[in-house]
Amino acid sequence: MNFAYTPSTICAVATAPGRGGVGVVRISGRGLLPLAHAISNGKTPKPRYATYTDFYDADGSAIDNGLLLYFPGPNSFTGEDVIELQGHGGPVVLKMLLQRCVALGARLAEPGEFTKRAFLNDKLDLAQAESVADLIDAASESAAKSALKSLKGAFSGEIHKLVDELITLRMLVEATLDFPEEDIDFLQKADAVGRLHRLRDQLVKVQTTAKQGALLREGMHVVLIGQPNVGKSSLMNALAGDDIAIVTDIAGTTRDTVREEIVIDGVPVHIIDTAGLRDTDDVVEKIGIERTWQAIERADVALLLVDSRDGIVPEVQTILGQLPERLPRVHVFNKADLSGDKVGRSEEDGHPVVRLSARTHDGVDALKALLLEMIGYSGDSEGVFLARERHLDAIARAEAHLTQAAHDWQQVEIFAEELRMTQNALSEITGRFTPDDLLGVIFSRFCIGK
Ligand code: GDP
Repeated sequence: MNFAYTPSTICAVATAPGRGGVGVVRISGRGLLPLAHAISNGKTPKPRYATYTDFYDADGSAIDNGLLLYFPGPNSFTGEDVIELQGHGGPVVLKMLLQRCVALGARLAEPGEFTKRAFLNDKLDLAQAESVADLIDAASESAAKSALKSLKGAFSGEIHKLVDELITLRMLVEATLDFPEEDIDFLQKADAVGRLHRLRDQLVKVQTTAKQGALLREGMHVVLIGQPNVGKSSLMNALAGDDIAIVTDIAGTTRDTVREEIVIDGVPVHIIDTAGLRDTDDVVEKIGIERTWQAIERADVALLLVDSRDGIVPEVQTILGQLPERLPRVHVFNKADLSGDKVGRSEEDGHPVVRLSARTHDGVDALKALLLEMIGYSGDSEGVFLARERHLDAIARAEAHLTQAAHDWQQVEIFAEELRMTQNALSEITGRFTPDDLLGVIFSRFCIGK
């Protein structure tokens, strides 16, 4: 693999912090049987069976009792020996178990280190390893299902197919380089350009699916602008429908930016509320406002909500004037049941407009459809595998190199080089050509114990 690691024994609590019925300590390393013996006072666990036992401290006293599972490498998650101690889920007990493991020679694992070892030992490729984190962090059922597809190799499988085709094509082209006299004739007979076009079509299909997958993962960022009482909360509830909003603590975001999370048809929607944007001398409030503006800079859509009986009032006009030019806007006129407006979508002054009633839900579907359309979500998560920005970037580069290859195919050396670059870009997704520092970044974003 790309780089070697010290095969030390690592341990971590694999269950979520806090109290629970069961808590799991996971250990990975080489030759873990002595550790199993020591902790169970001499028992030899049968591989992949649950062994009921007390877990013992160095002085022979019991720390806890529960199940010990032993997965000898290479048939384990990390590819090394793995032991799981399933004890009681209390922080103190789990800490004592960890301390015992450390006393027996293990060290505390770094974030994502178990998954990283699985990657380094070829148990998972990089796209699969990333989907472990994405499955755990999934904010909607569709995102979770798609992450599982990626984990099971659906995405990597598509990439492997592309790379295999590419290798066949490269062999043809490289053969021509070795025998220049045959050159272009030979490539024409072998239908090299036809193959290239079919490959590109296939790549574009994967790109389309991956884009949908990335939307399911990243969701959309909506700036919500509206005066008090226009129906902001009512509209959020109406949009969310039966989908339960799960608020995750995303690294890098702060609690003082007013945010809400809902899910529309499986797509997580991060709402940035502009209610707190006003002139102030309060230092803390100023920081909050600064952060709200930063969030607005990265948003996908601004949603302006007004009471259709009042129209757009001057305070709202002021905020609208301060929004970034590039940010697309949707004007939503709420309370159509009171104003008697005809619900539905239209366009006014170049902006899409939706009239609806957050109370009766009339017209809410039109807004949902519009928002999903604006970010390019097709609404069908069937067959979609979860993907990340990193993957989309690699696919886009691969596509650019293929296009260049098609353009320059008669200059065989350039043709060959562009195909080589295409393969490198695709291989970054599965981790074959991923630089070490990027691997470090990817795994450091995992939680400890994963
Ligand atoms: P917010 O302050 O902008 O979050 O507004 P709320 O969602 O709390 O709504 C303010 C009031 O308007 C509440 O009494 C809602 O029930 C009511 N309301 C919101 N949307 C509608 C609507 O479409 N029609 C009617 N009739 N009332 C609405």
